[in-house]
Amino acid sequence: MSTPLFEKVAFIGLGLIGSSLARVIAAQHLAKQVVACTRSAKTLHDAQQLGLIDAGYHQAAEAVVAADLIVLAIPVESTAAILAEIKAVVAPHAIITDVGSTKANVVAAAQAVYPEGLPAGFVPGHPIAGAERTGVHAGKVDLFAQHKVILTPLPSSADWAVAKLTQLWQAAQAEVICMDVDKHDEVLAHTSHLPHLLAYALVQQLVNREDNLDIFRYAAGGFRDFSRIAASDPQMWHDIFFANKTAILKAVDGFSTQLAALKQCIETEQRQTLIGQLGHAQAARQHFNHMLAQKPLMEKHNVAQQFTILPGAHRFQGKFSVPGDKSVSHRSIMFGAIAEGTTHVTGFLEGEDALATLQAFRDMGVSIEGPKNGELTIHGVGMQGLKAPASALYMGNSGTAMRLLAGLLAAQSFDSVLTGDASLSKRPMERIAKPLRLMGAQIQSTGERGTPPLSISAQPALQAIDYDLPMASAQVKSGILLAGLWAQGTTTVTEPEPTRDHTERMLRAFGYEVKTEGNRISLQGGGQLVATDIQVPSDISSAAFFMVGAAICQDSDITLEAVGINPTRTGIIEILKQMGADLTVSNERIAGGEPIADIRIRGSRTLKGIHIPEDQVPLAIDEFPALFIAAACAQGRTVLTGAAELRVKESDRIQVMADGLIQMGIDCTPTDDGIVIEGKGKDGDWSAIFAGAEIESHHDHRIAMSFSMAGLRSYETIRIVGTETVATSFPSFTELSKQAGLEIQVHELTE
Ligand code: NAP
Repeated sequence: MSTPLFEKVAFIGLGLIGSSLARVIAAQHLAKQVVACTRSAKTLHDAQQLGLIDAGYHQAAEAVVAADLIVLAIPVESTAAILAEIKAVVAPHAIITDVGSTKANVVAAAQAVYPEGLPAGFVPGHPIAGAERTGVHAGKVDLFAQHKVILTPLPSSADWAVAKLTQLWQAAQAEVICMDVDKHDEVLAHTSHLPHLLAYALVQQLVNREDNLDIFRYAAGGFRDFSRIAASDPQMWHDIFFANKTAILKAVDGFSTQLAALKQCIETEQRQTLIGQLGHAQAARQHFNHMLAQKPLMEKHNVAQQFTILPGAHRFQGKFSVPGDKSVSHRSIMFGAIAEGTTHVTGFLEGEDALATLQAFRDMGVSIEGPKNGELTIHGVGMQGLKAPASALYMGNSGTAMRLLAGLLAAQSFDSVLTGDASLSKRPMERIAKPLRLMGAQIQSTGERGTPPLSISAQPALQAIDYDLPMASAQVKSGILLAGLWAQGTTTVTEPEPTRDHTERMLRAFGYEVKTEGNRISLQGGGQLVATDIQVPSDISSAAFFMVGAAICQDSDITLEAVGINPTRTGIIEILKQMGADLTVSNERIAGGEPIADIRIRGSRTLKGIHIPEDQVPLAIDEFPALFIAAACAQGRTVLTGAAELRVKESDRIQVMADGLIQMGIDCTPTDDGIVIEGKGKDGDWSAIFAGAEIESHHDHRIAMSFSMAGLRSYETIRIVGTETVATSFPSFTELSKQAGLEIQVHELTE
């Protein structure tokens, strides 16, 4: 057996929190000896019966002798008295920690007891986990699992003490974070203490009414949910409210202001303002829930979801409308927000990234209704109407959103910070920061090697530039053009290859003049956008997976309706046609300034390997992961060159695809700017060619969806881990794939 973490642990207090930690220590044999001091003999007796402690005491000073870990799990107000009592007998190497819900007063109590300086082993802490019940019997061994524990080390705290405590809480499966004492109290005042105070206040308000019996009898779910925490221990909360008095009073003031504003909206019937406020709160809750609760957990454990694709799909057929175009969805919010008037959007992609952009503009004071069934109403604030966001703007997984917003924010008269998830945080941002700096922007990519977060300082006036893009990038082009809207003079961007022109088209739809002369795109700063209606076309990048699926599967017949066929995006159609796919485009029409059409693909011909023309590369840049699957099923060699850009997408798409293909038995060689794939297809032979594999998607939605399609030609099961990002661009992917005939299962991982 390995050496226990501690020789002797002494708990002062063994109620809900103390006994839960004692249960962890007992279950995992983390200490040679565990003792406790409580007020009542019964608690000590019960704890011994439960096997939690070896000995019990009524004097804290007796319990802590020779202990190398002392845990104060008592009401915070008793801290000073207990520390004073044990001071003389605490071992010099002992770690002293606590679990109190407030921290500044615990530290103040310790300082009063140790005026000569705090012991190195003193490290306050607070597990963010609890329950309404108290006492030794309420404890649970898994109370802290998947919860956070905040440690608030002081300048006097030793690293070894912090490290050992971290180990202890990690053994309880908690996520340990370190925080400054004052920050802790302020954060907790808003997120825990204020909600408890409000819950008590609401219940009390109802109790005081004469008809309270009826009210409680007919209480709806809302009341039950809201008031649940008013069942907590009054003594403990009484202590907390006083212990964290300053921060709580501040939080109450903030809340009162907010409540008064809502009251006024109702009183004066400001309907639009009220819906804007409620919508903002609703969206913020969904957004933060995801971002704070799930994302870090996913990121920590690397994945939260897995696809399993079983071999033997015998058909791939149907008519489908894939979700709205991601690029157009992002832009519809941005342009609608800075336009004069009200913009209606239909077909909006309700994927996580576009929702993050929506949230960012709500955070900058734009009132937006929806999305509901893909519909949005954006009440534009005009070119000068955006307000400073209260905190960093989170862009999720989206490079488009971050680079476009960088341009827009560079021209605002307020400071801002742009952050993103694990994958976005690795993507290069200097390529947009550099030209923006030439325009006079103050912008810094504060991550390592020019990666996010991006920190942007207020800038009253930008200067127009004439910029030669060193790489073909629609995102960088768009970011510069967006900054150019506010710049003095004419901003011109020259691109080496044509890239997506959604920005140019949509600006024109909003009444802004944009000139395109060959590869030169220019606009004059200082104009204004006029609100319009935007119909977001179905995303050709999402349609691409179904196009490739149909092209590699015998007797398949897939029709994708109303797909955006902007000429800067149709590389996938051209390349598949060159490979010999049976693909027809019909019913071409224009919607919201963008061309759309229905696309039908049938599995009637074996694909042929080709050398992909370099001029098609920017027009199919997001579709290459799917095209690599098509190439593996083709007869002969497919060569891709001039696509170095793929190495800095959501993942290094060349390497990640090559790794997966090799695992599935495909001979391929990644190169600096492309890949060579030896197709395994044989003319007229539709048999399975892919071996089973366990694919790591590297948080990249397109990698996950591309390998899913390989399942149509695999003879063994394919598992793809880390598929949660699929929801960023194609939330209905698994549902539609199943309808078409792919044997795909989704597993949510609990860790
Ligand atoms: P609890 O279940 O009521 O347990 C408190 C324990 O402390 C009991 O064992 C009690 O002894 C003992 N105790 C109280 N005063 C004492 C004294 N002067 N000397 C020795 N023992 C004393 O409370 P809890 O929920 O575990 O809360 C403990 C601490 O955790 C509090 O500081 C609270 O802020 C913090 N906390 C609570 C939660 C939560 O949700 N409950 C969450 C996070 C943090 P007897 O058993 O003899 O009464």
